[in-house]
Amino acid sequence: MKIIMLGAPGAGKGTQAKKIAAKYQVPHISTGDIFRANIKNGTELGKKAKTYMDQGLLVPDELVVDLVVDRVNQEDCRNGYVLDGFPRTIPQAEALDKALASLGQKMDYAIDVEVPDENIVTRMGGRRACAGCGATYHLVYAPAKEEGICDTCGKELVLRDDDKPETVQKRLNVYHEQTQPLIDYYTQAGILRKVDGTVDIEDVFREITKILGE
Ligand code: ADP
Ligand code: ADP
Ligand code: ZN
Repeated sequence: MKIIMLGAPGAGKGTQAKKIAAKYQVPHISTGDIFRANIKNGTELGKKAKTYMDQGLLVPDELVVDLVVDRVNQEDCRNGYVLDGFPRTIPQAEALDKALASLGQKMDYAIDVEVPDENIVTRMGGRRACAGCGATYHLVYAPAKEEGICDTCGKELVLRDDDKPETVQKRLNVYHEQTQPLIDYYTQAGILRKVDGTVDIEDVFREITKILGE
């Protein structure tokens, strides 16, 4: 089962992708997580990506596409995967389709998690990320057992640099300009499915399991 998660920054793509990965036993591939790991490890890719990410801009397509194509060709992806945060532009989507077509494969679902911009701004202000393992929490909607401490690894929870309000608005604009056209792209491909992302995390997931099957 090959799945793409679509939606604005903060719509809940990562939250749902992790749940899909656990239930359907497929790897969760988050380009944002891959970049943040590279930044943490001080790699060349991380250095390049950081200059864009800090400004709320997309990392250039040429730095993203090969990375994802290599990843989905790995052994653990043979039964499928859930892509979170990729593709984010039409050229990325076209490059992915081309790479899959050359292997005689195609994407199964693109799930659009719909959340209006008004809700996004409050969601992002409350998002907290673990400085150790990258796990995501929300101060109100998905709180850690002990405030400010990661449930799984015990490290500190922080507000991502790009989750500050000024940058969130910029990322929303970038989303509408560069990523939203993918909704038409995957509608035309016949694989788009929409879910209401404004309801509780478990209710969003229930809608998704209706699409993917029990
Ligand atoms: P969110 O979860 O809020 O949508 P991500 O963690 O997916 O954010 O991405 C964080 C940042 O990493 C993006 O704002 C962008 O700069 C960069 N990024 C992630 N994925 C891509 C991609 N497919 N193409 C270009 N830039 C990307
Ligand atoms: P994305 O990957 O799309 O950027 P996340 O999964 O990181 O989004 O979610 C953004 C923030 O909103 C996180 O703090 C997360 O805990 C919270 N969140 C996710 N889904 C919901 C939901 N259905 N209702 C309320 N808060 C949510
Ligand atoms: Zn952690």
